[in-house]
Amino acid sequence: MNLARFPRIRLGHMPTPLEPMENLTRHLSGPGGGPRLWIKRDDCTGLSTGGNKTRKLEFLMAEARAEGADTVITQGATQSNHARQTAAAAAKLGFACHILLEDRTGYTDAAYTQSANVLMDKLHGAHVSRRPGGADMAAEMEALAAELRAQGRKPYVIPGGGSNPVGALGYVNAALELVNQAAEMGLRIDHVVHATGSAGTQAGLVAGLVALNANIPVLGIGVRAPREKQEANVLALAQRTAAHLGLEGIVRPEHVVANCDYVGQGYGIPTEGMVAAVRLLAEKEGILLDPVYSGKGMAGLIDLIGKGHFGRDENVVFLHTGGAVGLFGYPDAFGVSAD
Ligand SMILES: *Cc1c(COP(=O)(O)O)cnc(C)c1O
Repeated sequence: MNLARFPRIRLGHMPTPLEPMENLTRHLSGPGGGPRLWIKRDDCTGLSTGGNKTRKLEFLMAEARAEGADTVITQGATQSNHARQTAAAAAKLGFACHILLEDRTGYTDAAYTQSANVLMDKLHGAHVSRRPGGADMAAEMEALAAELRAQGRKPYVIPGGGSNPVGALGYVNAALELVNQAAEMGLRIDHVVHATGSAGTQAGLVAGLVALNANIPVLGIGVRAPREKQEANVLALAQRTAAHLGLEGIVRPEHVVANCDYVGQGYGIPTEGMVAAVRLLAEKEGILLDPVYSGKGMAGLIDLIGKGHFGRDENVVFLHTGGAVGLFGYPDAFGVSAD
């Protein structure tokens, strides 16, 4: 595997820190202690408050530039962190940026529809337009691309979440980074746990870890689709990513595991577990999670620790994928009263 063969433009602060969560470990451990909890701080990638999409955009924006594009188009939910990081990357690299936001929650309050990520999309100069929930967003992007081409622009279309074999290279790179960090620290990682949505993060991690023969299982905590669908999406993308790396056939179904028991009523809709997880990390570790992804991912991790899913002597790394800006889109979800 040789990632340097692929065009890449540096956008993030890397390596991101890999840190122990001592207070949380103590708080959650049963008699005898453990599992030991660690956090990989991909919320600290630096680009417009950071997050996991930065790593994907390093490869996607490089491909856009290599193809001679002058405009990028992408899509996401109203409070999309991917849209915000894409807008920032486009701003930095001198591309025009068009963002299509799908209303997946039905929330109409100004905090959700105008603040947080949406405010930042606009601060970065992106053109933002809205689509109703359930719209065919890929088709909407293609229609916009055709319109822009007719005006003489050269658009490059980035799929939702930046999840294709090019974007997933960002998480192949993260797998390399994590394994090297662990080796330097003398840390045996037994599990990686993170929130999984459009699948690129888990697909890249799995492809990278399998390619490295790291023998580290990854557990994706779903935020939208049911388990079978999520696992199928991740597996298909992990296999395409491996093929893109010239390693066709290395990723097998048993490498892809998702748990989608923590979605609640749907994508972007708060759950009690998410609220408890966001509050707990804020209070015990001074770390901000987000309401849509990392809060539900951590809610899953906490619940699974309570059920004895991990061994007492195991080291579990939670990959913090970012998104805390989204908290400002959910001001009433956390039971924090105004004074
Ligand atoms: C997009 C996102 C995820 C999910 O990553 P995918 O690659 O889409 O599966 C997780 N956490 C945050 C904060 C995100 O913005």
